[in-house]
Amino acid sequence: MAKSKKRKTTGTRAARNRARPAPVSPSLGGTWWPPFPSGRVAQTQAMVFQLQQTQWWPEERLLARQLEQIRLLGEFARRTAPFYAGRLDTITGLAPGSLTLDAFRRVPVLKRADIQDVGEGLFSRAPPPEHGGIHRMRTSGSTGEPVHVRTTDVAGMMNTAVSLRYHLWHRRDFTGKNIIIKGLKSNIDVQKGESWVLGYPTGPSMAFNQTLPPNDLFDMVIREDPHYLQCRPYALGELIRRSRELGVKPGRLREVRTVSEVLGDELRRQCRHAWGVPVSDNYSSEEFGILAVQCPDHPWNHVQSEKVLLEVLDDEGRPCPPGKLGRVVVTALHNFATPLIRYDLGDYGELGPACPCGRGLPVLRRIAGRERNLVVLPTGEKIFPVLDSDSVIFNLPIRQYQMIQKTLEMIEMKLVVERPLKAAEERQLREYYCRSFGHPFRFQFVYVDEIARAASGKYEVFRSEVGG
Ligand SMILES: [Zn+2]
Repeated sequence: MAKSKKRKTTGTRAARNRARPAPVSPSLGGTWWPPFPSGRVAQTQAMVFQLQQTQWWPEERLLARQLEQIRLLGEFARRTAPFYAGRLDTITGLAPGSLTLDAFRRVPVLKRADIQDVGEGLFSRAPPPEHGGIHRMRTSGSTGEPVHVRTTDVAGMMNTAVSLRYHLWHRRDFTGKNIIIKGLKSNIDVQKGESWVLGYPTGPSMAFNQTLPPNDLFDMVIREDPHYLQCRPYALGELIRRSRELGVKPGRLREVRTVSEVLGDELRRQCRHAWGVPVSDNYSSEEFGILAVQCPDHPWNHVQSEKVLLEVLDDEGRPCPPGKLGRVVVTALHNFATPLIRYDLGDYGELGPACPCGRGLPVLRRIAGRERNLVVLPTGEKIFPVLDSDSVIFNLPIRQYQMIQKTLEMIEMKLVVERPLKAAEERQLREYYCRSFGHPFRFQFVYVDEIARAASGKYEVFRSEVGG
């Protein structure tokens, strides 16, 4: 969008509205209002219009359309992506409309290691030209296993469309100021954007580099005074901690959106309590983009079924019923550059019963984390510890913390503190976490100046180094 000349107005809302440029396509044969969207904006908005209908479809109807789309994708993948040549027998060579869920579930699950091994064999040799440009991306692989995936303009457009629907669900005011704390190039602290919602004139949009010290980030947020803030849950915890420390809070903030890490109920409560605003969450991955976003009426996510088919499977590969934790396995419906069919993301999640809001999009009740976030008990049993522990941390002079399971009996707790903890305080921490872990582990406290994040910017409160 061209830079509009900054015209000084009288400062009234009416004057500001008069001065605002036309939202999109300002020059279609002299038209100005309502705007006539064109190109990518028009395509995305037409898609959002459809998504606003399909969200109310019954789950079975959504599933039938997904399966037919997957049948077409499967035929395409078998023909053009060498890796899939002999892998899709149960879903190819079928008449239109005849792919069943059972047949689909017989396609072997694709592991991250498979993708690394086959390399280029996973890419289509002939992505449809009408799907637009090809974008290469390398997922950071927070455990050091990078994966190469290609995607298309069409797949990107679907992502933008579901992101726009997410904004509409939560009735966000696009004239508000939006700040995102995320990974930026290391030499960039602040990046200014033009619009934070495709196709709409928005309030100011800025990104802050998530690697800046938390206290600096807090000062920047206070200075810029945004209406909306998007960040990882861990960063939100740090901002709230600093806010309490200084007794200062963001004045105009209406909502926080979290991404990329597991959001706990306790942090939602803390944000509501400290800042008086709700947190909405969004589950995405680098390979697929947005997978599920929070219901406008309930604190859980809806799978974005018009773009992905998401399964939760047990260790034997059987579908988990709602309420049972299992592996998240995803099929992307529209990526014809790198067909990803039944790809095991490495996350553990849990589906829920149908949402009372009436949407047919399946409920993803929670995402618990990755395999390395499981604590291994001396019995060999693995469980996801409940680490909704910010209340105990908030009451101690702790700036940063992280727990690493080193052996079957010992957990190392790294701490960045304002002053060394007293023995009673260490004991309090240990007791608290041992209850979460379900075992009386030995704790080793290690005081450090800083706890580094993974290269991806992800911050894990707990991870286990006990293999197997
Ligand atoms: Zn809902």
